[in-house]
Amino acid sequence: MFQKILIANRGEIAVRIIRACKEMGIKTVAVYSQADKEAMHTFLADESVCIGPPQVKDSYLNMQAIISAAVNTGAEAIHPGYGLLSENPAFAKLCEDCNITFIGASSEMIKQMGDKDQARKTMKSAGVPVVAGSDLLEDVHQATQLGAEIGFPLLIKAKAGGGGRGIRKVEKMEELQPAFAAASAEAEVAFGDGGVYMEKFIYPAKHIEVQILGDKYGNIITLGERECSVQRNNQKVLEESPSPAIDERTRENLQKTAKKAGEAVKYIGLGTIEFIMDKEKNFYFMEMNTRLQVEHTVTEAVTGIDLVKWQIRVAYGVKLNMKQEDVAINGSAIECRINAEDPFNNFIPQVGKINLLHIAGGPKVRFDTAVYQGYEIPPFYDSMIGKLIVHGNTREEAIRKMKAALCETVIDGVTVNTELQLEILEYEDFITGDYSTFMLEKLLENRNK
Ligand code: ADP
Ligand code: ADP
Ligand code: MG
Repeated sequence: MFQKILIANRGEIAVRIIRACKEMGIKTVAVYSQADKEAMHTFLADESVCIGPPQVKDSYLNMQAIISAAVNTGAEAIHPGYGLLSENPAFAKLCEDCNITFIGASSEMIKQMGDKDQARKTMKSAGVPVVAGSDLLEDVHQATQLGAEIGFPLLIKAKAGGGGRGIRKVEKMEELQPAFAAASAEAEVAFGDGGVYMEKFIYPAKHIEVQILGDKYGNIITLGERECSVQRNNQKVLEESPSPAIDERTRENLQKTAKKAGEAVKYIGLGTIEFIMDKEKNFYFMEMNTRLQVEHTVTEAVTGIDLVKWQIRVAYGVKLNMKQEDVAINGSAIECRINAEDPFNNFIPQVGKINLLHIAGGPKVRFDTAVYQGYEIPPFYDSMIGKLIVHGNTREEAIRKMKAALCETVIDGVTVNTELQLEILEYEDFITGDYSTFMLEKLLENRNK
C-alpha cells in the first residue's frame, strides 16, 4: 500500500480523507493556504505544507506548488477530493508525468468525460439513453436551427460545466440568442471554455445518480443510487439513498445502465453516473463525475462500504474483494449539507467565528466537518462547512433521526441553513418521496407568501 498520500484539498473532505489514511496506516501530507494555517486539515495531517495565498487560484489550484509539496515530502500519491483539481486533466497528467499516483481517473478518462457533449456521444453509442439534444454548437445560427427541432423549453449547457454553472433555460425561440451568448460567456469565465450544447428541458425531473467502482482488472460494481433532487440553482442541498420514488424494476435498470456506462469506457476508480428522470420514470444519462462525490456518505451508510478507502485501494492496484451480489443496500440514509449562508436572505454566504459548537450524536449519526469551536470561517472558500448524515432502518426513521440531529446541533456565531433543512424534512412533497428538482423553489416561494 501507499506509505504517504498528499491531500490536495481543504475543508471537510480533506479531513475525511486524512481519517481514511490514518485508519489504513498511511502517512498524510496536508497542503494549506495562508488563510488555512489554523484549519483542521492542517493540524490533523502528519505533515503540512503552505502552498500560497488565500485565493484558490494561488494555492489549492496551484498545480506546481502542490506537486512540489508532494515531491519534497516524498508522497507517492495525491488525493484531490472533490471540486478544485479533482477533474482537471492537466493536473492528473502532471501527476502521471511526475510518477505520482493521482487518486482518481486517468487524465485521458477525465478529459473524455469532462467534455459533456463528448460524453453524451460516447454513452449514446454504448446504448445508454441520453436526453434529446444537440452536439457542441458551432454558432448561434446552428443553435436556432437545432433549437427548433429539439423544441422548447430547452437548456443550453456548458460542455465543460460543473457545479451547476453555465446552464441557461430557454423558454422560447426569442430567448435563444441572448441565452446562448450568456451561457457561453459564463462558461468562458468559469471554465476557460465557452463551448455549449443543448438538451431538452425535462420537467418535472428527478436527479438520480448511481455510484460505481472499478478496479484495474476490469471489474465494475454499482453501489446503489442516490436521490439528489433537493436542489437550489442546480446545486444539491440534501441527498438520500435509496431513492424513495423508484420501484425495484427501475432500480435494477438504473444499476444495469450505469454498469454498462462504466464498462463502455472501461472505467477504473470511483465514479458517478448522473441521470435525469422524467415523471414516467424514463431516465437519461446527464453526465459522469470522475471523482469522489460530496454525497458519497449516504452510499457508505446503506452499503457499509468505506468508499474513500476503496478509492485509495483501487488506485494502488488492489483488486475488488466484492462482487455485485455481495453489495446489499440496508435501510435508508439522508445527508444534509450544512452551509454557512442565510437561506432566507438570498443565501448570502456567512463568515465569522464559531463561538459555540455542539455536534449531534447517537447511533448512526455522522457529522463530517472541518470546523471546531473558536474556528473562524474564512471568506475565500465554499460555504459548505459540514454534512450531517443519518442512517435509519426505514426512511421514516431516517427523517425522524435527521430532525432530532438538526435540532440538537448548535453552531453559534454564524448563520447556517439548519432551519431550511428542517423545513424541507417537514415539507409534504418531501415526505411523500416523489419530489422533483423544483421542490425547493416551490417551498421557498410558498414561504414568502
Ligand atoms: P457533487 O455534489 O456532485 O459532488 P457539487 O458540484 O455539489 O458536486 O460539489 C462540488 C463542488 O464543491 C465544487 O464544484 C466546488 O464548488 C465545491 N468545493 C470544492 N472544494 C471544496 C471543499 N474543500 N469544501 C467544500 N466545497 C468544495
Ligand atoms: P453540472 O455539471 O453543473 O453538475 P449537470 O448536467 O449535472 O451539470 O446538471 C445540473 C443540474 O441541472 C441537474 O442536477 C438537474 O437538476 C438540472 N438539469 C440538467 N439537465 C437537465 C435537463 N435536461 N432537464 C432538466 N433539468 C436538468
Ligand atoms: Mg452534475
